Amino acid sequence: MNGQDWDALRAQMVRLQIERRGVRNPAVLQAMRDVPRHLFVPEPLRRSAYEDHPLPIGHGQTISQPYIVAAMTEMLDPKPTDRVLEIGTGSGYQAAVLARLVKHVYTIEIVEALGKEAQARLASLGYRNVTVRIGDGYLGWPEEAPFDRIMLTAAPPDVPPALIEQLKPGGRLVAPVGTGWQELVVIDKDARGNLRRRTEFPVMFVPMVPGRR
Ligand code: SAH
Repeated sequence: MNGQDWDALRAQMVRLQIERRGVRNPAVLQAMRDVPRHLFVPEPLRRSAYEDHPLPIGHGQTISQPYIVAAMTEMLDPKPTDRVLEIGTGSGYQAAVLARLVKHVYTIEIVEALGKEAQARLASLGYRNVTVRIGDGYLGWPEEAPFDRIMLTAAPPDVPPALIEQLKPGGRLVAPVGTGWQELVVIDKDARGNLRRRTEFPVMFVPMVPGRR
């Protein structure tokens, strides 16, 4: 397949899987059209990269279904000036989508091999506004806090307190929360630091593993 074929598959993915299910934010739709998802999955799975489901990326982990990436990105309501923290770098795909929409993405991965691979991939694709760190997402990234937006792409049993602390007043956090099936939770922190929490819909993410401390 050549570049145009991949572009056509991606345009179709956005139309049929994402717009049709109600994602409307034009910047988010454009980012989903732009990021070459097939370059974020293992080579033998490239031809399946634009199908309507998650795919394995090694180490027992998965890259999320395209619709879930788009829906969570829209839910995060990213702004061009935002500094964003992502927990669970995985392939780096969600980080790449966010990188097209915000100022800088800080992303933490606990599996060293995945983090290093994602870092190399993002660099080779020219993403200069993503920083990958190997570490435990439960602790967040205190040196770079506070963040305008925080997105978790692995599911903790409860929202980690350190991440709430590292959210700016006026900021928003989106996370799958729970064990087994999870709920997508959106937490807004207002200017005074008060929290408002709502749940969207049930999702299935890999669990966020407790770090070695
Ligand atoms: N956002 C990724 C998919 C995430 S899969 C993508 O776009 O490809 C979830 C990832 O979270 C896995 O790579 C897993 O290793 C990582 N993870 C699990 N527990 C973690 C923790 N405590 N801290 C940081 N990363 C964690």
